[in-house]
Amino acid sequence: EAINPADGRPFSDEDVELLTTLSAQAAIAIENARLFHQSDLVSEMVHELRTPLTSIVAYSELLLRQEVPPDMAREFVETIFQEAQHLASMTNAFLELSRLQSGRTRFQMAPFAIAELINEVINLLRPQAEERSLTLHATLPDPLPRVIGDRERLRQVLVNLASNAVKYNKPNGEVWLELEPLPEISLLRVKVRDTGRGIPEKELPHIFEKFYRVADNEGYAQGTGLGLNIVKQLVEAHGSQIQVTSQVDVGTTFSFTLKAAPGD
Ligand code: ADP
Repeated sequence: EAINPADGRPFSDEDVELLTTLSAQAAIAIENARLFHQSDLVSEMVHELRTPLTSIVAYSELLLRQEVPPDMAREFVETIFQEAQHLASMTNAFLELSRLQSGRTRFQMAPFAIAELINEVINLLRPQAEERSLTLHATLPDPLPRVIGDRERLRQVLVNLASNAVKYNKPNGEVWLELEPLPEISLLRVKVRDTGRGIPEKELPHIFEKFYRVADNEGYAQGTGLGLNIVKQLVEAHGSQIQVTSQVDVGTTFSFTLKAAPGD
């Protein structure tokens, strides 16, 4: 039991909770500042930008220099468009990552209704899911719980996890966003579960690394390999850990916990 040096009394549960959150955030900020100085993140990012840029340059050059039959020209423009979109999502992820790494991300922790957020994310992803004949479900407890966290950042976490669950799914597959209250410990477990292609066991330790993509999936869906690294950092800033279980051809579940809002 920790004793409060100010008045010699034991710390209350609230004190301990606050100190735990503060120290988790401080530890992350220090670690990030250190990594930012040491790593060659910038050269890694530039390297990643080169691949789509090279193909944009090559295809537009072909279009400019040669007589290309119209249907082939259309294919080239489609490739250029896709690669440009890929570049755009990469630059967004780079900005996010560099902000996180340098400790410039400010978290606005406040109580909010997480069920609403879940429904928002489901509505956002519905078009992508329908395109692939996937069904999205929400499993929400009654009464609807509130949690403490940065709503905007948690939205990013859920969008990232759920769009992976859609991207790496199979036709007619399913995705669940689930909330499970753990009242004894004043936490709420958040799960994103899919019936997708799964992740081989030997890949699991690496999927949270920057730029890491499972080789089998590379041709399957476009991505930056940064989403899960960003998710991990955002979840850790909330004093939690991101967990994953997966079985090839059966599906994948990502989960983390959030603090329940007091009084709920
Ligand atoms: P990406 O931009 O490639 O989606 P992420 O960092 O979000 O990058 O994920 C890293 C890799 O982990 C992905 O390339 C994919 O191979 C694998 N992955 C992530 N989520 C899932 C999932 N729900 N099912 C299967 N594989 C997944």
